[in-house]
Amino acid sequence: MRFDDVLKRLGLGPVESGACHDDWVGEPGGGEVASYNPATGEVLGRVLAAGRPVYDEVVDRAVAAFAGWRTTPAPRRGEVVRKIGAALRERKADLGLLVTLETGKIRSEGEGEIQEMIDMCDFSVGLSRQLYGLTIASERPRHRMMEQWHPLGPVGVVTAFNFPAAVWAWNAMVAAVCGDTVVWKPSPLAPLTAIAVHKVVAEVARAEGFPGVFNLCFGSIEDVGEPMLNDARLPLISATGSCRLGRRVAEVVGRRMGRTILELGGNNAVVVAPTADLDLAIRGIVFAAVGTAGQRCTTARRLIVHESLHDQVVDRLARAYARLPVGDPWDEGTLVGPLIHEGAVEAMQAALRRAGEQGGEVVAGGKRLNRPGWFVEPALVKAKAGMAVVGEETFAPILYVIPYRDLDEAIAIQNGVEQGLTSAIFTRDLLEAERFLSPEGSDCGIANVNIGTSGAEIGGAFGGEKATGGGREAGSDAWKSYMRRQTCTVNYGSELPLAQGVKFDI
Ligand code: NAD
Repeated sequence: MRFDDVLKRLGLGPVESGACHDDWVGEPGGGEVASYNPATGEVLGRVLAAGRPVYDEVVDRAVAAFAGWRTTPAPRRGEVVRKIGAALRERKADLGLLVTLETGKIRSEGEGEIQEMIDMCDFSVGLSRQLYGLTIASERPRHRMMEQWHPLGPVGVVTAFNFPAAVWAWNAMVAAVCGDTVVWKPSPLAPLTAIAVHKVVAEVARAEGFPGVFNLCFGSIEDVGEPMLNDARLPLISATGSCRLGRRVAEVVGRRMGRTILELGGNNAVVVAPTADLDLAIRGIVFAAVGTAGQRCTTARRLIVHESLHDQVVDRLARAYARLPVGDPWDEGTLVGPLIHEGAVEAMQAALRRAGEQGGEVVAGGKRLNRPGWFVEPALVKAKAGMAVVGEETFAPILYVIPYRDLDEAIAIQNGVEQGLTSAIFTRDLLEAERFLSPEGSDCGIANVNIGTSGAEIGGAFGGEKATGGGREAGSDAWKSYMRRQTCTVNYGSELPLAQGVKFDI
């Protein structure tokens, strides 16, 4: 397969600017960064990062564009998003392949990522006619109360490497129909995908007469990342990444009373109960644990299995792991591609060593493959709930299997980590399923029955609790985070009654 043809079709040259407002910035001034293909270790292309002055220029343009965008009728904003969705549909195959080349996701997941952007466009177009407020019964005669939603301002969006396009769309498409402009700081590990996506989006926005609504500012943490967090021109920072990132964002943005949406790390568990359909469970667990080479925030990292099924489940999984096709992510038939870089391989090896020291036993996989790129065999580890390493999110395919005796214990183990993103139970017992979903069940933002932990649809609000940050993006009423709420009271009488019966006659 000729990869350079794909890059050319997407309009990508060997060196690309990483900064775009009304137009691409020729010399953004922040030095050059290489993007690598994790399946080969080769350089895919080079990107010119933005320096601090260009960052300021980009945000100025986003502020200027906001003035006109916020008064553009929301359905007209939706029309622009509809056209972005159409343009993404046309380029889906090439953009999907670029995601594969830059992140190592297998082909169907690379294309799935672009499909998720398209789904977000469709969802947001509908939303552009549904930004509803409430009317509220007033306690005062001849008064009407209502709630309305206004655009918030330019939104700063920080994204992680593992969803280099879709997570931006979760934020940007909703923000756009809400009347906000967007400044995107993509991951240093996947800048080409951001640039290719932005080329498509900026072209549509310009043709529609709205340059400056979508802005790209690729750059270092010092020149772009930290300035964004400290920038009062950005009333909302939506950040996706590690819990460490989230703590920093919460602290800095909170200090200036800005708003945040935090989508952070997960340490997701699947419970396998005695009545589980094991054929279904094994398929669901393997996809959740090794899909995207364990590099999803929703990856299943802990498997909590009833003691009566423990040995059988470990045995079946070990056999499934032995057959996993690990290899070039663009090849048909590959299910597990590479990790993102050398550091990720080393972190996985270190976690497996610590698991051994803490009493765990690797029963399948875990080795690095002897070939260029950053390939590993997904690992299955017999473990115990109290092991420190089990409480950590190692961003690699390691599944810790932990036995349990009764559902209370399973739920306690499931909830006994600092993160709270996704969770799942496999059971055919209705009472167990309902307990898992009840207030005394899973404490995660997402709880599933008879499906795994990953592969969420965009229609639901996505996000998690505790150290996962509490943010919600994508569907449901997540749009409310991108707008400001205004409560309005209108007096259409000739008296001035006060609330709570207060008298103040002058
Ligand atoms: P990361 O935290 O290393 O980086 C994420 C982004 O934050 C990057 O763009 C990075 O440059 C930026 N960043 C880091 N420090 C910053 C600072 N001080 N100021 C501004 N920006 C800063 O994460 P990663 O390795 O790219 O991605 C993997 C992590 O992301 C995992 O923990 C995963 O669980 C999480 N994740 C969460 C979700 C979710 O929706 N909950 C989705 C995808 C990934």
